[in-house]
Amino acid sequence: MNVPPAVAAQAAPDTLGAGRDASSLETAYDLILVGAGLANGLIARALRRARPELRLLVLEAGAAAGGNHTWSFHDTDLTTAQHESVAPLVSHRWQGHAVRFPGFHRRLAGGYQSIASTHFSEVLHRELGPALRTGVAVTRVTAREVDLAGGRRLRAHAVIDGRGLAAAPAPERVALGYQRFLGQEIRFAEPHGLTAPILMDADVEQHDGYRFVYVLPMGPRTALVEDTYYADDARGQPEIWRRRIAEYCAQQGWQPVRVLREEQGVLPIVLSGDAQAVWDDARGVPRAGLAANLFHPTTGYSLPEALRLAEHIAALPDLSAEPLFAAVRAHALQRWSDQGFFRGLNRMLFLAAPPTERWRVMARFYRLPEPLIARFYAGRPSALDKLRILSGKPPVPVGAALRALRAVRLHDSHAPTRP
Ligand SMILES: Cc1cc2nc3c(=O)[nH]c(=O)nc-3n(C[C@H](O)[C@H](O)[C@H](O)COP(=O)(O)OP(=O)(O)OC[C@H]3O[C@@H](n4cnc5c(N)ncnc54)[C@H](O)[C@@H]3O)c2cc1C
Repeated sequence: MNVPPAVAAQAAPDTLGAGRDASSLETAYDLILVGAGLANGLIARALRRARPELRLLVLEAGAAAGGNHTWSFHDTDLTTAQHESVAPLVSHRWQGHAVRFPGFHRRLAGGYQSIASTHFSEVLHRELGPALRTGVAVTRVTAREVDLAGGRRLRAHAVIDGRGLAAAPAPERVALGYQRFLGQEIRFAEPHGLTAPILMDADVEQHDGYRFVYVLPMGPRTALVEDTYYADDARGQPEIWRRRIAEYCAQQGWQPVRVLREEQGVLPIVLSGDAQAVWDDARGVPRAGLAANLFHPTTGYSLPEALRLAEHIAALPDLSAEPLFAAVRAHALQRWSDQGFFRGLNRMLFLAAPPTERWRVMARFYRLPEPLIARFYAGRPSALDKLRILSGKPPVPVGAALRALRAVRLHDSHAPTRP
């Protein structure tokens, strides 16, 4: 990046929260990242390594970077270089994982890893130092400026908006189903006996669409137990979900002693959308993470996509506003185009299968060969994989499945009516 000398000479301010006249403009940064969540955190780390000279500022509204999450991924989701880069962030690793469906339990060999957001925050603070500021809410984002709550305005050669769902595309741009869940990290009276995660225990009563329980054994007596739904709406029912987690633990013979922490989420499952329009709405501000639609369309998980974007940005020759926006937009549009197959499958899951029968689609999928399943989660199924996933006797009515596959403009029904 070419940084004008007058700008490079300015010192970075050390306090940001205090109110100051918005007319005071400072271009003290090369790049400001708005939001210190998963996507921007990974971008900041990648840039620190590739471009240590960059004057970077990461602004997070919350008290800590990363919020309250457990981010997990399959070993096969990442390249060797990506594994190396996330290794300092990883809190748990397991050999293998399992799934359960009525009448069919399967153990898979693929390894699984998790990042606890508390650990993510510690690493980020250590690596970024004063470039990471928490408790700083941004009220306005443009391609070269951010306004802070309190009135202060900061300038940079470029800004990236990584505010997560707070900056997610409007409903007339993207039609969604939802993966909603509540997880409790629980300490049990006795060892639970699990040595590997159960990524889907769908051998449970079905409610509100496709229901399964996700279990990560964090220690011999502790586990994260998540009650999860592939549902048509984003409604939260925390009391019901807590009760169902307690019922599930009782069925497994696990006696909870204490709930150590809780996390909740509503993840977007994309059915259709107008990606070009999403980027028109961005008005020249590059986006990252959920705000950029960069996640696996069928799981709502975004870690591998966030790493890809971070690598891409760190390798760009010019990080000033226009070229950065053009590069991020092109990357996201390419990923959107690559992911059309997943959106079709999502429509089959949400539109062709009656909600209580959705589990059959997943059960059938989990009978396929493990390397195919791994490529599916990694977001790179081969042409043959796609054929295999769609061939055979579908677990949903054929006519409904074909209609669902063709319904590529569902988001249009949310478009505001024009006079
Ligand atoms: C509980 C939970 C568990 C999940 N588990 C997984 C998983 O296992 N694997 C996986 O790949 N994905 C998972 N996801 C999905 C997805 O990867 C995460 O939501 C991920 O955090 C999205 O990354 P992001 O950077 O887009 O947004 P976020 O990580 O949500 O980051 C956005 C950040 O911006 C901040 N912010 C918002 N507004 C402002 C503002 N005005 N000013 C300053 N800062 C602001 C927020 O406080 C937040 O820290 C999970 C999601 C949730 C909610």
